[in-house]
Formats: sequence, structure tokens, C-alpha cells
Amino acid sequence: MDQKNQFLSAPTAARAFGFFVDGEWKDGAEHFERASPGHGTPVTRTVRCTVDDLNAAVAAARRAFEDRRWAGLSGAARGSVLLRVAEILRRRRDEIAYWEALENGKPISQARGEIDHCIACFEVGAGAARMLHGDSFNSLGDDLFGMVLREPIGVVGLITPWNFPFLILCERVPFILASGCTMVVKPSEVTAATTLLLAEVLAEAGLPAGVYNVITGSGRTIGQALSEHPDVDMLSFTGSTAVGRSCVHAAADSNFKKLGLELGGKNPIIVFADSDLEDAADGAAFGISFNTGQCCVSSSRLIVERSVAAEFERLLVEKMKKIRVGDPLDERTQVGAITTEAQNATILDYIAQGKAAGATLLTGGEAIDLGRGQYIAPTLFSGVSRDMAIARDEIFGPVLCSMHFDTVEEAIQLANDTVYGLAASVWTKNIDKALTVSRRVRAGRFWVNTIMAGGPEMPLGGFKQSGWGREAGMYGVEEYTQVKSVHVEIGKRSHWIA
Ligand code: NDP
Repeated sequence: MDQKNQFLSAPTAARAFGFFVDGEWKDGAEHFERASPGHGTPVTRTVRCTVDDLNAAVAAARRAFEDRRWAGLSGAARGSVLLRVAEILRRRRDEIAYWEALENGKPISQARGEIDHCIACFEVGAGAARMLHGDSFNSLGDDLFGMVLREPIGVVGLITPWNFPFLILCERVPFILASGCTMVVKPSEVTAATTLLLAEVLAEAGLPAGVYNVITGSGRTIGQALSEHPDVDMLSFTGSTAVGRSCVHAAADSNFKKLGLELGGKNPIIVFADSDLEDAADGAAFGISFNTGQCCVSSSRLIVERSVAAEFERLLVEKMKKIRVGDPLDERTQVGAITTEAQNATILDYIAQGKAAGATLLTGGEAIDLGRGQYIAPTLFSGVSRDMAIARDEIFGPVLCSMHFDTVEEAIQLANDTVYGLAASVWTKNIDKALTVSRRVRAGRFWVNTIMAGGPEMPLGGFKQSGWGREAGMYGVEEYTQVKSVHVEIGKRSHWIA
């Protein structure tokens, strides 16, 4: 059997994982069993860590930071560890993708593609470790020279969500490591396996003990305690706006730790009549259905020029009906299972609200019964008005709302009519419109005639209530540093006391 196919059925029993502190695997008294959302059968078992376990992890990360076993290395030495990580991930790609698909419900082919992106994150992180530098001021006069040093911020807490457990992890870990920081990671309890597998990979690559620690458990207990911890210097949180807000309170009430927040989105996709409508329809279908719409950057508000709206919606319905929804372990599947029962119920509730509010259901709008697991058909509503809940709230599911416009100004105004500002796209062959809309729509990531494209060289993050700070690329690595101004007197001091 070739390596690609050896993992393509669900395991017969749950695989047990410990948690990882100071380079060692540990077990605990209480455990959590995760069932695959695509199959309904148990697949993994992780430890419900205690606050004492968390404190031990933070203490290990603190020791590893203070004794400079990692921060004291050259950027080249840190970079070579990150390059070895990339090599090991390449070797273990299919295995890691398998556990990701099982716990999250995403299609196996998509999970493999995500691991490829993660490999690139480590390669870019390796370059960033070598290129990170400060600044100098040669403009302070002959008597004074100024240097700006970039120093790692210290111990980072990293809380990651369940929608892209490994990808979101790998858009942060290489850059945290590149900066010289140490960390304690708390993955979502329902999708912790691949974060734990990364501990094995990092250790094999030569990362010193104590630099990467993972504690498992629920957000309400361990996540909250990590966000409140007085010995954590920075917290990077990705998840809901509500928990993001609680992290801000926790930081204020503890030690004013720095925060990086990547929160919700209600992202517009603006389609002009002069675009390639086939391309745009394909982009719109992908933008809302990829990862079952459980993406912070899902394009969930279609803003289409009225003169082509009916034709465009017809093209889009045709495409959405062809999407292959199915078993995450089937190589042909394009859209897998909804990750949690709670999220499944939330999405179905929003669909019911859309119908009740009078929006016109053009396709989907229901659960798909595959005999096991939880699946929802890609859904398109037309006739949506901007005050409806389906147009305003982040649904985090495969539900697209179509609204129509007549002028460029109206399109920009509709796009900006949200508390969020994570991502947006515009589809047009007119360069003036493309540039005007890109510059006026308030979003951290913008795509022109494409969607969800890019690499870890480019920064990601949000405007408005979509968050604070940027991850990935040089912008991302700089977030995990702080700057220190060093002033150097040259020659004899001119005395204050004569
Ligand atoms: P959460 O914000 O609750 O979960 C995200 C992460 O935060 C998980 O690791 C979770 O742990 C942890 N967490 C939960 N509560 C706390 C807390 N009090 N303090 C610190 N960490 C905590 O998202 P939900 O799972 O509740 O999803 C709800 C909605 O959030 C979705 O419908 C979607 O709109 C949005 N969301 C956005 C994401 C994004 O990428 N921007 C990702 C996920 C959700 P655990 O899961 O173990 O409880």
C-alpha cells in the first residue's frame, strides 16, 4: 500500500495523546475523547490539564527564555532548526493531514494542501529568523549614535481554534520561534492532535526543551487561565470576537500582556458587471464553501452589480450544486463535515432565520444525511437586506447572502457596512475600479480577481473588530518582538556640573 492510501479509513479506537511540557510527555487524571465529526466514532483522547499543569508549562517556557537556550542562538541557527521542521513535515505530511481531517472534518485532499502551506510557513520563518534586524540613527549629531534593537518579547501564550488547527498554528509558531520567543500553546480541545504532533516534529528537528510546550483542556478553564497568566508576556488568540474581548479584559486585569487577536469576519465579495462572471462565480462558490465556510476569511456577503445579478446568481447556483459534499477521508470530497455539533446547530439556526426573515433560498438550506456525521449543503440566499441577521453576523458555515448595488460608491458602502474588517475581494476587469475598491474597503486582506490566495510571506490580520496585529511574514515576526532604543555617547561628555 502506498503511503498516501494507508490512512484512509477511520481508526478502530481512539488514539491517546499526552501533553508536552519541558521536552517531556505527560499524562493526567482526566481525559477528553473526540469523535470524528464526519464519522461519529471516537478518534483521539487527550488530557484535561489542570491549572497546575499550565503553571508548570509557563514556568518551563520562562526558564527556556531566560537562560537564552533559544533566544541566544544566531538567527541562522534558529533558521536551520525551522528548515529541518519543514523537511520532517514533508515526510509526515499525509499522517498529519489524516489526523487533521479526522478531528476537524475537512476533506483529506484539502488537509494535505494545508500541510504544504504549513511547510512553506516554516521555510519563510527560517528566512525571517535570519533577516530580523533593528535600525540605527546616524542623524543625532556627532556626539550621539542611536540603535534600535529588536528583542524577543518573551513567553508567548498561543490559543488556536478548531477550524484550521494546524494551519493557524503554523502561521504563528515559525514566526514566534524566529523571533527567539518561547511559548505555551493551547489548541481547541476538539482538535488538539496535530498541535501535539508538532511537538514531536519540533523535538526531532532539534528545538531545545521548554521552548514549545502544549497544554490541552477546554477554553473556559485552561484557555482563560492562560489569558490571565501574569507570567505570559504576549497572548496570540484566534477565535470568536466574544472570547477575544475576554482576552482583552484578562490582559488588563493581569499584567497588560501584549495581545495579537485574529477574530471574526463578514467578508464581502464584490462582483462588477465587467468581470469574468464564470471566474467570479467559481471564486464565490469556493470562497463560501471552502472548509464548509468555517473560515474567518470566508466570503460570506456577495455584493453583485444589479444589472448582472440574476445571471450571476444562476451561474453560482449551478456551481454550488456541483460541489461534492462527503466523507472527509474520500479523496474526491470537496466539502466535508461541520466540525462541532454546536456549530452545526448554529448554522442551521441562521438558515432558519434567513428563511423566516423573507430572504429567497436559491440553493442548499438544509442538512445532508450521509448516515453518519454532520453535513450541510452549500447555501445561497438572495433578496437579502443589510439589516437581516444572516447579512450581519458571522455564521461560520456555508451560507452566502447576495445583495445588489448600482454604483461603485454603493458597493464600497455595502462592503464597509459591518463591524468586521478581516478580508474582501473584488472582481472586475477595470483597473480603476479594482484599485479604488481595494483602497476604500476596510479589510486586512484583499484579493482582486482571486480569493484566499497568498503565501506566508504576506501579513494577515484584521481591521475594526476583526482584531489587532498581524501574523506571518516579517510583519508577523516583528509582532513577537519589542524595540529598545540604545543611545551611545561618542567622545567626552559635556558636563552638567561645572
Ligand atoms: P471560541 O472563540 O470559543 O474558540 C477559539 C479558541 O478559544 C479555542 O481554543 C477555545 O478552546 C478557546 N477558548 C474558549 N473560551 C475561552 C476563554 N474564555 N478564554 C480563552 N480561550 C478560550 O470559538 P467557538 O468554538 O465558541 O466558536 C464560536 C464562533 O467563533 C464561531 O461560530 C465563529 O463565528 C467564531 N470563530 C472564529 C474563528 C476564527 O478563525 N476567527 C475560529 C473559531 C471560531 P476550546 O475550543 O477548547 O473551548
